[in-house]
Amino acid sequence: MAKKRFIAGATCPSCSATDTMRWWQEHHVEVVECVQCGHTDRRSPMSAEEKQPVAQQQDAQVIGIFKPQ
Ligand SMILES: [Zn+2]
Repeated sequence: MAKKRFIAGATCPSCSATDTMRWWQEHHVEVVECVQCGHTDRRSPMSAEEKQPVAQQQDAQVIGIFKPQ
């Protein structure tokens, strides 16, 4: 059995309830479920990695320009 963990502060995109979302991994796929309305969402960790590094690099460049001095 996969461990299901609640996501603190997460809002359900279906019923807009907060702190009702829990997630677990199923065959290397992240599954998110809302215990309030039963909404489920699946996402591949690989597709998420393609988008995030670009945004993180842009943030790092902005921080490098504005030095707190
Ligand atoms: Zn919901």
